[in-house]
Amino acid sequence: MDDVKKALNGLTSAEVKKQRELFGTNELQAEKSETFLTKTLEVLREPMFLLLIAASVIYFLLGEARDGAIMLIFVVGIISIDIIQEWKTDKTLRALKNLSAPLITVIREGVESEIDSKELVPGDLMIVHEGVKLPADGVIVRQSDLRTDESTLTGEPEGVWKTVSTGQDVSDDYWRLDTCYAGTLVTQGTAVVRVTKTGTATEYGKIGAAVATVIEEKTPLQKQTAGIVKASAAIAVVLFLLVGIVTFFNIPDHSLGGRLIESVLAGITLSMAMIPEEFPVILTVFLSMGAWRLAKKDALVKRLPSVETLGAVTVLCVDKTGTITQNKMTVSETWAPDGDEPTLCEAMGLACETKPYDPMEKAMLTYCRELGITEEHLFGEDLITEYAFTDELKMMGHVWHHENEIILAAKGSPEHLLDLCALTDEERRAAEDKAASLSKTGLRVIAVGMMKPDSPAQIPEKLTDARLHFRGLVGLLDPPRDGVRDDIDVCSRAGIRVVMITGDSGETAASIARQVGIPDDAGVVTGDRLEDMSDEELREKVKTVRIFSRVIPAHKMRIVKALKANGEVVAMTGDGVNDAPALKSADIGIAMGKRGSEVSREAADLILMDDRFKTIVETVRDGRRIYDNIRKAVGYVFTIHIPIAFSALLAPMLGIGPASLFLLPLHVVLLELVIDPTCSVVLERLPAETAIMQRPPRKPDARLLTRKTLGMSVVQGLAILAASFGAYYITFMSQPSNAPLARSMGLGVILLANLFLVFTGSSDTESLFVSIGRLKREKTVWISSFGIILMLTLILYTPLSGFLKLAAPSGLQLLTILCLAAVSVLWYELVKAVRRRRRRSEMSAPNA
Ligand code: ADP
Ligand code: MG
Repeated sequence: MDDVKKALNGLTSAEVKKQRELFGTNELQAEKSETFLTKTLEVLREPMFLLLIAASVIYFLLGEARDGAIMLIFVVGIISIDIIQEWKTDKTLRALKNLSAPLITVIREGVESEIDSKELVPGDLMIVHEGVKLPADGVIVRQSDLRTDESTLTGEPEGVWKTVSTGQDVSDDYWRLDTCYAGTLVTQGTAVVRVTKTGTATEYGKIGAAVATVIEEKTPLQKQTAGIVKASAAIAVVLFLLVGIVTFFNIPDHSLGGRLIESVLAGITLSMAMIPEEFPVILTVFLSMGAWRLAKKDALVKRLPSVETLGAVTVLCVDKTGTITQNKMTVSETWAPDGDEPTLCEAMGLACETKPYDPMEKAMLTYCRELGITEEHLFGEDLITEYAFTDELKMMGHVWHHENEIILAAKGSPEHLLDLCALTDEERRAAEDKAASLSKTGLRVIAVGMMKPDSPAQIPEKLTDARLHFRGLVGLLDPPRDGVRDDIDVCSRAGIRVVMITGDSGETAASIARQVGIPDDAGVVTGDRLEDMSDEELREKVKTVRIFSRVIPAHKMRIVKALKANGEVVAMTGDGVNDAPALKSADIGIAMGKRGSEVSREAADLILMDDRFKTIVETVRDGRRIYDNIRKAVGYVFTIHIPIAFSALLAPMLGIGPASLFLLPLHVVLLELVIDPTCSVVLERLPAETAIMQRPPRKPDARLLTRKTLGMSVVQGLAILAASFGAYYITFMSQPSNAPLARSMGLGVILLANLFLVFTGSSDTESLFVSIGRLKREKTVWISSFGIILMLTLILYTPLSGFLKLAAPSGLQLLTILCLAAVSVLWYELVKAVRRRRRRSEMSAPNA
């Protein structure tokens, strides 16, 4: 193939450009990007902004143009924050999508390179191999054992063997054998394909199968919070009326028009304070930023809801080869019963793929080369037949013309291959014993057999019909990855069970399991045993068993289902084409970015770019952190809205006139300007709690806002309400003419309480000092804290205070504000201390 590749130079960049202009990009549907204008309009449609605008209009109507103007400035501020936020989220999501875009290898200007499938143009030469999903239609220029699954187009489940295009159509069907079609899979072999049709011109495009756009599904969290937002809005409407009416009757001395306008204004203030418009923002921002941070750590999340699910994972089913081990194989032992090692190795080599993809085969060929058995020697003559590897048979073979003979060489798992070998009972036992002893040291053992048919007529049709001469065993070493032991340890402490799944033998699997610290005391379940089990038996088994061996992809599916039926949240890795169903049915399907097939990547929720087990554990940890932060942020928003909403409600109820109210619309907006960035920027970045991987996974059905956390948020909010409204009310009672000062006292308490809340709320159990230590390096936390203090100084002690209807408190009053704010929030530290004590005694209690 190499010499031909030389002749295949592919397109030049000038040609690519020309083709692109002629045919466009290889997409079924062009992506439409939202314009800045539509985004702005979207933001403006939010009820919050309608309220804001209404409030400023009312100010203007009242003839208070200055207030109206200040209000408008704030509105612009909030809108800008929102638009920037949305724009950033959009950009992040688009970048993520591009990262997971399917790639394809092409030859252009004589060089092989990987490009985004979208970039393909007619005339391009694609190089495809097992596991590739074809991105365009094309004719086959070169191929070796190419087989494709065209069921997506033809409905025909049987694979199709492909042929090189000779220019004439040899197929007797609409679907040509010398053509590969977009949307179909390469299940075996390799080929060079010249693209003929791209995008909607492909057969796949014509069917329009994939044209239906993917609907971004709402995450469970989004649904849950949408409910909360709706409920709050409904309450807001009721309170709007209530406050409006109360205000109306509070001010009999105003004109009727004046009374109406004041009542509407009071109602609007309250509604603004009531609507937790931050909730939806928190979710999209936290999830997408979370996904972005994960991408930087080589874990590509394909569906946003997965970020949420990750933190709840209870069982991690991982492939042994490549995930737990390095997938860097070397032949470390050979055993030929007749002592003829060279023949064993030659047979092993002949049974390998000529262009191996699998590290094991590469290792075998390397080993042969070291013994002087070159690939030219092995594969120099004609390949007559191939017996393809199947997961069920776990063996494969080739028939070659080799040095004037016909040689059938086969290799595979000892259990299966020995059945084909002519052996006496004694010889067989010797072979099995040797295989077992090699496996026990963690080696993958492959048996090799050979036969020499006298004539082509004697070549068996199927490998299972062959009668082989047993040549010996090969042991391959694939050491565990560095640090896997520690990572598995982290998982056990975090209450996550690691289950190893492998096509290898039980002994090999158990040995590797022991090396990395997966307990094998519950035994090993083999694929055959699994086959005999009923679903109920399997459900019982998966509760304890940690090792599954000689498994085929269909078994993975059953294991996932059994685990899920037991209420587990299952993450499962997979790389092969046949793993796709299991990946789909797992809660989190994890595909491998390096060695995985395109099909598995497509089916997965998460792609591990570096194939490392460590990354999975890191991802789970981040999933927990993100979920924690969402919970904390939602709790925060709840808490901080309570003093604002209730103040807006209480003051009119107490018969305080419109001009002396605690919070005017201005102040509500001012507070929103602080709250918005606090939750979307500061809380999003909160680092994981120190013990985040030392607690069990959250219950999968756990609601974001349980009655308990909600209750705690409400209590916290009420405490701040008592402090802030109390400060305002007492000051107001003692100096009824100085509403601005009273207001400053109350507002100061809320702002400082907000500051304390971020620190103390950053953990459910840690003490404030531990939290501060953890947050030490979080710049945003400190910048925002400083910002709040600066803002408070500016609005109280500069001419701004006049504009904002505030007044400068004295030193003593300032100290009072600080103390009140601290007390209203920091009592929560006591609750945390009690929790810590309880947890400690739980941990030290026996059988806990
Ligand atoms: P894993 O799940 O560990 O990747 P595989 O499904 O790749 O395992 O392989 C399972 C078994 O099939 C191996 O232990 C080996 O016995 C056999 N096998 C795998 N690949 C080949 C191959 N290329 N040639 C012969 N036998 C193979
Ligand atoms: Mg494998």
